[in-house]
Amino acid sequence: MSEGGELRSMADLLRSGATLTSLSCPVCASPLFKLKSGELWCAKCKKRVVVVKEEETEAVSPVLLGSLESTLLAKIRELDGMMRDEEDIDQLLRLGAVLSNMLENLERLRRIMRYKP
Ligand SMILES: [Zn+2]
Repeated sequence: MSEGGELRSMADLLRSGATLTSLSCPVCASPLFKLKSGELWCAKCKKRVVVVKEEETEAVSPVLLGSLESTLLAKIRELDGMMRDEEDIDQLLRLGAVLSNMLENLERLRRIMRYKP
């Protein structure tokens, strides 16, 4: 009677405050529960499951990446203008640090954009 046992534990999970998610177990494809602790749980395998959420990869869509790229480019242009007019060394160092951070982000972003799974 494994079927009954499974149903009973699902009901127990829900009673304990766990919620049913749209994610499925990578092992048995059963719907996963999110426990109150935030952990994902498969009632069939009776174990904790770590899922690499597909939704998150999809959320980083080409549209979002393109938008991020233009935001970064606009900020880099702004920083360029600010640095040109700035005479204070401390301020220049701060702007330089931000700029270097932006350039790193831009490089990383462009690497992601080129990446084809
Ligand atoms: Zn499972």
